[in-house]
Amino acid sequence: MRKTKIFQSYGLPLIIAACVVGSSILLFPRWSDDLVTRTLLGHAESSARSWQTELAEALQEDGSLFVQGSKSEEQLGLINASMAGSDIFRFKAFDMSGRLTFVSDEDVSALEDEANLNTTAALVVSTGEMHVSVEDGTEKPSRPDQYVEAYLPFIGQDGAVQGVIEVYVDVTGLAAAIKAKFGRLSALLIGVTAMIYLIPTFILIRRTAQLRARDRELLKVSRHDALTGLLNRGAFNEACSEFFGPRNRASDGLGILFIDLDFFKDVNDTIGHDIGDRLLKHVADRFRRVCRKEDIIARVGGDEFVILCPCTNPTELRSTAERLISETRDRFICNGTEIPVSFSVGAHVSTGDENERRALYCSDLAVYRAKADGRGRVALFSEELERQDIRRRSVLEDVRNGLDQGRFYLEFQPIYNRTGSLAGFESLLRLRAHNGELIPPDEFIPIAEESGLIEDLGLWVMRNAIETAVEWPEDVFVSFNVSAHQFKSGQLVPELDSATRTTGLDPSRVCVELTERVLLEEHDDVAEQLAAIKGLGTQIAIDDFGTGYSSLSYLWRFEFNHLKIDRSFFEAYEFDSVRYARLIETIVALGQQLDMSVTIEGVENQDQMDYILTTTCDHLQGFFLGRPASRERALALSRDTAAA
Ligand code: C2E
Ligand code: CA
Ligand code: CA
Repeated sequence: MRKTKIFQSYGLPLIIAACVVGSSILLFPRWSDDLVTRTLLGHAESSARSWQTELAEALQEDGSLFVQGSKSEEQLGLINASMAGSDIFRFKAFDMSGRLTFVSDEDVSALEDEANLNTTAALVVSTGEMHVSVEDGTEKPSRPDQYVEAYLPFIGQDGAVQGVIEVYVDVTGLAAAIKAKFGRLSALLIGVTAMIYLIPTFILIRRTAQLRARDRELLKVSRHDALTGLLNRGAFNEACSEFFGPRNRASDGLGILFIDLDFFKDVNDTIGHDIGDRLLKHVADRFRRVCRKEDIIARVGGDEFVILCPCTNPTELRSTAERLISETRDRFICNGTEIPVSFSVGAHVSTGDENERRALYCSDLAVYRAKADGRGRVALFSEELERQDIRRRSVLEDVRNGLDQGRFYLEFQPIYNRTGSLAGFESLLRLRAHNGELIPPDEFIPIAEESGLIEDLGLWVMRNAIETAVEWPEDVFVSFNVSAHQFKSGQLVPELDSATRTTGLDPSRVCVELTERVLLEEHDDVAEQLAAIKGLGTQIAIDDFGTGYSSLSYLWRFEFNHLKIDRSFFEAYEFDSVRYARLIETIVALGQQLDMSVTIEGVENQDQMDYILTTTCDHLQGFFLGRPASRERALALSRDTAAA
């Protein structure tokens, strides 16, 4: 597998290098053999020539060598002497017609039968040119291993060609020496060629491998989140396009888990970004461990992850998500700090009949639900969720345009002293939707808070409430509700001051109602803003007491003017009047002990009214005494009660 890969990647340079080195291995020995032969022939040729000249001189040749018949002892002696000590070990002589006339180591008379013509000798006579060939004598006992047969015209003392001699030159020693030299040379050349081609080839391969590795690294970096090593948003989008693209792989069933790390912002803000980063890495590792190989895990936002896993069944997907939560839930300890790990997971199974956008929208909606349901849990997408989302968007649209289009108005609910006289009115915000429907504040206030629109809306309420109260008798106060979010910008106090100044309303006739959520807010300056509100002379009421943390330390620290007992106590009172009566009395006593006037909310019938009058509470509010009413009716009521 790996070999095939290497070949695919570097095949061409390797083939080129192998061809060059291979052909040099094949060609160099041939070339060196050829060179050896040519050198041997050249050597033999010159040896034969000079010997022939010496022989001609020695014999003072008169031509008898080229005539058949026995030679004199003297002639034979001269011939043998000329060969002795040279590399010529034999020779033959031919007359001008190519007929053999003498052989140095044989008796010519014994060769009479061989008195045929030698065509090579005849050719040499006719052309006047030498003829040489290298012969192998290893199989012939009377011959050296390697020798050259050289036919050359024999030129006599007079300069005339007398015949042809065939000289046998022993080149065995020379051949061995030259071959050894050329062998070394050709090995050297092969080595050098190999170096010249292979070294650059290997450098090229190495460099290409490095570049490819770097490319892979770059691709990895561009596709992966640097912190966790998971896929990043871009790569996640690509994966989605792959599932929802033309091949529609999602039609095989694709589970989408949208995961939101709970309270991550708090970890970052309170313990530090360093530990926040480590937490993200830890979580990513756990995801990798729990997920299957085919699952795609991506970090798509600061503390948001998405897992795409092949799956057809929502129940199966839910159990995968629950396993993910349970196996990752354990505590994360960093630098001795123990951080609980918790997720909200939105799950949705897509079967390819929807596009990518809708599939992601569905899982996003589900995570929104998981968070709203208390975090650390899984929510599956459902049509009900979608209906709620459509409704939420429609309400958000009305909230957004409400102020400009005059869709908001205030109603005022009377609050009475226990003596029955009118104490004041609580301003309650109303929103009429674009279709005329009245949207309850319990629905639109949270949406206004989430979207940040509550800031402007709250100031509008405050100004309107104060402007309205100016028309009321001087002993009637106005209260209005403020959300925790309204303390963020720090506008509340100066706006409140400016509203009372411009209207001339005595600030002590204004009461700000706030819930414990305001006190839970992280802003350091909430306490300062509350002190500033009191500093203006304005009253502060703690609203819906008994529904939140009802922390005594808050009551102690902030010195509120009023405490409003939540109406849910009355709902409970209906079922277990004795126990709840005791509880209500205790709270009334607690508030009064801390110098607060206590209001009981939600008085709906005579029984409740009768009971309340047995307590020492200061104020009463509820439908039984008066429903929230229009500005005009509130004005009329305030004047009537004043007159009475
Ligand atoms: P809340 O401040 O506790 O206001 C009292 C709520 O109790 C009002 O509901 C009122 O109509 C209702 N109520 C009064 N007496 C009775 C009774 O005898 N029985 C029953 N069942 N209900 C009674 P509403 O007007 O629907 O307001 C609901 C909540 O919306 C308020 O609760 C308050 O938290 C919020 N809200 C209303 N107006 C504003 C506003 O201007 N700003 C902010 N931030 N919140 C507001
Ligand atoms: Ca209130
Ligand atoms: Ca209340």
